[in-house]
Amino acid sequence: MIAPVTLRFEDPVTALDGVGPAMAKRMAEGLGISTIRDLVEHWPRRYQDAGEVLDLSEVVEGQPATLLGEVVRVEPKMLPPRQGRRRLTIIEIQVRQAGGETFLVTFFNQRWRANQLSTGTVAAFSGTVKRFRSHLQLQAPDVQVLGRVAAQASLDHAAERLQHQRLLAVYPSVEGLPTFKIAEFVGKALDALETCDDWLPAAIRSDQGLISFDQAVRDIHRPADWPSQKAARKRLVFDELFTLQLGLQWRRTRLEADAVGLDNSPRTGGRADHFLLAMPFSPTAAQNRAFAEIGDDLSRQRPMHRLLQGDVGSGKTVVALWTMLNAVDQGRQAALMVPTEVLADQHLRTVLHLLAPLGVNVLDGIRIDALTASSTKQHRRRVLGELLSGDIDIVLGTHALLEEGVRFADLGVVVVDEQHRFGVAQRVKLKDKADGQVVPDVLVMTATPIPRSLAMTIYGDLDVTVLDELPPGRQPVATRMIPPSATQRRQAVYDFIRQEAAEGRRAYIVCPFVEPSEAAAGTSAVAEHERLATEVFSDLTVELVHGRMRSEDKDAAMARFRSGEAQVLVATTVVEVGVDVPEATVMVIEDAERFGISQLHQLRGRVGRGDHRSYCVLFAGWNAELGDDTVTRLEAVCATTDGFELAETDLELRGAGQLFGRRQSGLPDLKLARLGRDTRLLATTRQLASDVVKADPDLQQGEHAALRLEIDRRFQGGIAAFEALETG
Ligand code: ADP
Ligand code: MG
Repeated sequence: MIAPVTLRFEDPVTALDGVGPAMAKRMAEGLGISTIRDLVEHWPRRYQDAGEVLDLSEVVEGQPATLLGEVVRVEPKMLPPRQGRRRLTIIEIQVRQAGGETFLVTFFNQRWRANQLSTGTVAAFSGTVKRFRSHLQLQAPDVQVLGRVAAQASLDHAAERLQHQRLLAVYPSVEGLPTFKIAEFVGKALDALETCDDWLPAAIRSDQGLISFDQAVRDIHRPADWPSQKAARKRLVFDELFTLQLGLQWRRTRLEADAVGLDNSPRTGGRADHFLLAMPFSPTAAQNRAFAEIGDDLSRQRPMHRLLQGDVGSGKTVVALWTMLNAVDQGRQAALMVPTEVLADQHLRTVLHLLAPLGVNVLDGIRIDALTASSTKQHRRRVLGELLSGDIDIVLGTHALLEEGVRFADLGVVVVDEQHRFGVAQRVKLKDKADGQVVPDVLVMTATPIPRSLAMTIYGDLDVTVLDELPPGRQPVATRMIPPSATQRRQAVYDFIRQEAAEGRRAYIVCPFVEPSEAAAGTSAVAEHERLATEVFSDLTVELVHGRMRSEDKDAAMARFRSGEAQVLVATTVVEVGVDVPEATVMVIEDAERFGISQLHQLRGRVGRGDHRSYCVLFAGWNAELGDDTVTRLEAVCATTDGFELAETDLELRGAGQLFGRRQSGLPDLKLARLGRDTRLLATTRQLASDVVKADPDLQQGEHAALRLEIDRRFQGGIAAFEALETG
């Protein structure tokens, strides 16, 4: 016998027997597989438990069994329609076992089975055995195609495989490369692969009860049983999460290594204190916790790097203001960055109002100003001057704050609101506005609740504070879904809006598109505004706001809605974040199926901000075009107003990658880890990563060099490129 060729991870897939240029191309284009490593790391999507394979002679009628064989005859039969029922197609398949005996397999109304199970196909069939005339028969069994007799996988080979292995891996596949083919190639690769080195330090492996990498890679594809599959998965998920956490924390350590933090310690009797005392309400317990955690950060030498998460309406603005006032108390400046102009404007209003008791923009008071893209040249020049001279204490703005010419005299605290709209790079560009190596304290706020598990993953380098409590007295927004065709119910909604308007309340109508020309099959804000203003609410004042309007017009429309001069506001998603009009009690969302869960939740968060009961109407149909996911999404939004619960649903439906555009973030892919399920491992790896980085900040000692290589391999473009993302 010839000694088998030894394969290595770096070898191209063409090193495998049976993979020629055409197959290699299919693998590369269809599945992104070009090396042996890519192939071996093409993890199974699920497993089919074939059960124990039986011989026909062992079969007991009425009992489940798995039978293996080669398809020798396929025969579609049509039964004539009977008693008004549909016509029935039966696919009858004759299968021959290795010993020559045959059995029958039948499927009803599954014509595609004739193609799947053409003559010569070798497959395992699992189901309950019956006797039909003289034949043993399986009706509509589970099928696992194992190969074709004409090709390499002979019946014997397949039979042998099933002898050793009941769990058959099912792979993500593409046309021309079915899962059994992939299984065959992966099997060959594993047979020839040299023993894989383990990059994980032995101590960690034994502490965590992890099997070796080599064992895991082999067992995930060909597990002997469920426990070995589980052990393999655990090891590989650990690898994904641990390298991710290590990369994030290592980067943080390096960024902070030569960064000098500022002392923004809260001062007793300062403005921050005064502000809390002057507030018309007392802080919630969650807000108090946030003050304590942030206060602690502010007092440390190390710059703050904290994420403040809180559901819509949980009172993040108060926390942000308090944080910024601590910088002002130390004689420094603070900046609040928001994603839209509407929001900058809104925040300025709120901040001026909340800080009024301290005296704003008066002699001895706090100096506050705003800078946005639509600021006039004159205004901009003045603000820039006053930021540089230190005359402005707190500045609010959009990404205009990131522009070149913006310099601060002494920037102490940066708050970034609605973080998911800013790139990571932007977040830090603002941080760099401070001089030299002195790094201001940074608080990132997000109103899109992220499951804690995801926050820990994606923000592995941030500390997290959660505002998990709404101020008292809030009533959940009643949410209903109404099919667009239900004209009477639509009319009832309009009548209700008119009734609310008569009581001094207001309604938003949100549309997915701006112009009618873009809204081939949907609703545009411009057209809807026209229709509502003239046909439906001719007795009310209806305003329009969308992103393409001039700022002055937008501001004016918002102002009329805020003051109550207008009762109905037709808008695009520009009102999605932060807009705060307490008298608004109705949120109508047209074409709701076009929005994601978090968007719907944000939009709904625009109502229910005052004392009155509020309502949200989602116009969306249960028609055939709505996929299952869409219906699940809309039903979830109707069922709960808890943002964290919705975020979990979103995560389940969409997967973590999509939620945060992992591709752009430079973070490694999580292929096996499920954040909803692997929270324990996530917490473990986060702690371990922190221990490792603390003990060896450069990851150079002993076994850590291998860790470092592994991180570098997994982070797209390498860890250095990932670091540049932050600092560039
Ligand atoms: P978020 O930004 O988290 O969505 P806001 O900061 O806009 O929430 O707060 C929502 C509303 O709740 C505001 O009108 C705010 O004044 C009010 N609010 C904040 N904290 C409290 C509190 N502790 N008690 C009562 N109302 C509060
Ligand atoms: Mg807010």
